[in-house]
Amino acid sequence: MKLQDRLITERKSKAVFELAKQYAYNYMDNIDQMEVYPSDESLKLLENFDEPLPQNSETASAVLKQLNRYGSPNTIAQTGGRYFGFVNGNAVPASLGVKWLTDVWDQNGALFVMSPINAKLEAVCESWLKELLGLPSSTVAAYVSGSSTANLCGIAAARHHLLEKQGWDVNKRGLNGAPAIRIIAHEQLHLCVQKTLALLGLGTDSVEWVAADEQGRIKVNELPKLDSSCLVILQAGNVNTGAFDDFNTICKLAQDADAWVHIDGAFGLWAAASKALKHLTKGMEMASSWAVDGHKTLNTPYDAGIVLCKHPDALLNAMKATGAYLTYSEMRDPAHYGPELSKRCRAIEVWATIKSLGRNGIDEMIHTFNLHAQRLANGLESEGLELLNEVVFNQVLVRHPEEAITKTLLAKVQSSGHCWMGSTNWQGKTAIRISVCSWATTTADIDSTIDVFRKALQ
Ligand SMILES: *Cc1c(COP(=O)(O)O)cnc(C)c1O
Repeated sequence: MKLQDRLITERKSKAVFELAKQYAYNYMDNIDQMEVYPSDESLKLLENFDEPLPQNSETASAVLKQLNRYGSPNTIAQTGGRYFGFVNGNAVPASLGVKWLTDVWDQNGALFVMSPINAKLEAVCESWLKELLGLPSSTVAAYVSGSSTANLCGIAAARHHLLEKQGWDVNKRGLNGAPAIRIIAHEQLHLCVQKTLALLGLGTDSVEWVAADEQGRIKVNELPKLDSSCLVILQAGNVNTGAFDDFNTICKLAQDADAWVHIDGAFGLWAAASKALKHLTKGMEMASSWAVDGHKTLNTPYDAGIVLCKHPDALLNAMKATGAYLTYSEMRDPAHYGPELSKRCRAIEVWATIKSLGRNGIDEMIHTFNLHAQRLANGLESEGLELLNEVVFNQVLVRHPEEAITKTLLAKVQSSGHCWMGSTNWQGKTAIRISVCSWATTTADIDSTIDVFRKALQ
């Protein structure tokens, strides 16, 4: 059979899609029995992918079968309720269902003329996000791969704006001979911000780093004097402790100085969407740009970073591309707002998540992360661990008074297969870093995780 005929037949027969559905349902239904981290035996199966480059075509079903057989056991069971590693979310059902359909659509989200539905839902989500997070009405949103890229875009907008104020068009003239930008940054920023500063030609040597207090909040009284050439980079949700900077005080100082404040709120910005936790983000609406992920605390599928910027011109000018073949329309063209042209229609999954949960559902889900984190923290303290942070949001940092025991304890818990979390270095010592950010986590999951620690400690 000619290749094209075979592909047409495969699409028509639907066999591969039916099989995918069957594997997917099986995976979902067995998620709670699965080892949260693959066993060594499973990991060995990965060798089945060490094959020479295939010369001839294979049926779609055969390809899928191989992936399911050796791939499924080598996933992390993060869609169950007991994965507490890094800060990973768990796509809510509506967002996953919508993703399946949009995968079939296979749209290129760059321009209105390439995908009217994506352009429309980007605009709808932009206005919903402003309302949910309490951001100024002039704010625009771009949908990017994650907060690494969202931080890059926000800081690129800041760079453009701060140089333009000094009569310098960075798009044309670059940075050689440019007036200086002063960068004032929290010393415990996520490592992606350093990467961003390198990519944008700003570097890290000239950054005026500001120390953090014992909870990981920037020390306001150590902030240098700000002026209109300043970019201040703050954090909503410290990567370890989940702590929030004092936006209210710092943003006021920045406003008086006409400085730009960028907030990395990858997972923490969502505190603003919860009545009980909103106080943590007080004053953050006075900043100029924000980075946030859908795929962490909001529980959208991956590939859902969002940059929000109060100065549309700064973001759009920083992201400007001109190409004679690009057909811009009267409608929103997503490519104007971010660094990419071809891209997945990520905003559709953000839309589905917000629509499925609603404002009250988002509030409930995020508040529950905090309640579960507190329950876990209290339980682990009762087992004799030291709690190292105030559990203001979804992060819990614990350790055993003895460094060596902390390490063996974590290794035991990780190899239990029952739950998984990672480690970090906190104030010079190893700490167990736990993040609660899955809609699927139940109180029973929290309690059984405490049990695993208890047994491991015995
Ligand atoms: C996860 C995270 C990032 C990076 O976001 P990605 O979506 O992984 O690119 C940046 N900052 C903070 C605080 C984070 O937690």
